[in-house]
Amino acid sequence: MSDSAPASVSPPRVPIEAGFFTVPEDRAEPPRLLGSRCNSCNEYFFPRRVVCARCLGESLSDCELGPRGILYTYTWVHVPLFGSLRSDAEGYGVGQIDLPEGPRVQAVLSGGPGDFRIGMEMELDLETLRVNKRGEEVAIFRFRPLAAAGERSGS
Ligand SMILES: [Zn+2]
Repeated sequence: MSDSAPASVSPPRVPIEAGFFTVPEDRAEPPRLLGSRCNSCNEYFFPRRVVCARCLGESLSDCELGPRGILYTYTWVHVPLFGSLRSDAEGYGVGQIDLPEGPRVQAVLSGGPGDFRIGMEMELDLETLRVNKRGEEVAIFRFRPLAAAGERSGS
């Protein structure tokens, strides 16, 4: 709990799989999802696509999405999150988040079973799943309720 030693350099973080989200060096900065925007019809997609699912155009640009969205629906999974460092004894939330750009993204949620309400604002966050053999933190993206942001850093 009380780290008396000054915060040393954090180990580097890497995404669990490249090409889906950013991992900012500044840990106070929220990550972004890596999506595509169609140059013909302006539709946004996550994950990235090479052909537009709306107009079948083949000219798409990479773009960053989020970090905030609205919780469309969610459920609670009553088993531990696979591969997680944490002892998710009570399980974890999974939800669908509507991004302002348009895509509906399915993601793991941060928080307890009573922390979610349909329609609430969520923010993208990273969580270290494990440390790999090179000493790098392997990160996944999650969405957490925006209102809980202050509580987390408070105590
Ligand atoms: Zn299109």
